[in-house]
This record gives sequence, C-alpha cells and structure tokens, in this order.
Amino acid sequence: MVVADKTKEDILKLLSQIADPEIPVVTIQEIGMLRDVNISDDGIEVIITPTYTGCPAMGIIEADIKALLHEHGYDATVKLVYNPAWTTDWMTDEAKEKMRKYGIAPPTHSSCGDIAAAEAEIACPQCGSKNTEVVSRFGATACKALYKCNSCKEPFEYFKCH
Ligand SMILES: [Zn+2]
Repeated sequence: MVVADKTKEDILKLLSQIADPEIPVVTIQEIGMLRDVNISDDGIEVIITPTYTGCPAMGIIEADIKALLHEHGYDATVKLVYNPAWTTDWMTDEAKEKMRKYGIAPPTHSSCGDIAAAEAEIACPQCGSKNTEVVSRFGATACKALYKCNSCKEPFEYFKCH
C-alpha cells in the first residue's frame, strides 16, 4: 500500500470525477455528497453523505468509489455519514445549472422553508415557464417529482428540495 505519497487533495480530486448515477452530468462532489477523505496505513476511507435516504444510487456510488481507487492501487472503504444531513444547500450553483441543462429542474431554494410554495412555481428546464404542474410527487426515484409544463407541454423531473 503506497498511500503516503498521495495527499487528501489528490484523492479528492480523483474522486471528483465520479458522476451521480441519477444525474450523470453532475459529480458526487458538485452535488455535495463527497464530504471527506481519511488516509491511513490501512488505506483510504471516503466519507459520503447520502442525498436522499432510500435512493438506490448509493450502492452504485460506493462501488464506483472503490473501483476507481482500486484501479489506482488503493484499498478503500466508504463510510456513510448521516449527520449532519445532506441538504440542497451543499449543491453548487454550477451543479444546479448542469442539472437544468440536462432537463431536470434543480431545487429552487437553497433551503426550503416553505416547500409547498417553492414547488408550486418550478420553472420548466426546457422553456423556463413557471406555468407547470405536478404530475406525480414521486418520479423515477423518490428524489425526484414528475412535472409537466403547460407552456411547451413537455414533461420534466424536478429534483426535490431537501
Ligand atoms: Zn416548458
């Protein structure tokens, strides 16, 4: 095990290329899941805070992290930390913009005080119209709601506030 020549920054940089399986244009770093890295003689410990509990993506992310570090010759363990809980505040503005271009409406408010009010005026990622309505509170996964735009008639997903 040769981890001594690698710094925490090196490892974080390496891990920052891992995409969120749910939103492949956004990395686990940009979305705020990648919290920390601990390097010891035993290997590398990666600290991850899941976005939404119950999201099936976590298993994939854990496997991706281990596979990537293994490829570079490191043994890694992934530790899930739930406290403090992940919030959409940890998502970078860049990530939100990428998400919108990808066709998923990003969380509107950084912290969702009044969720009902915030979710009543979600802008369509296609045309920007706020004349949208909820089709289903749960989309393909629990993290997203399914919306429909009344202006361009396109359906879209909205990444819920949290
Ligand atoms: Zn639209």
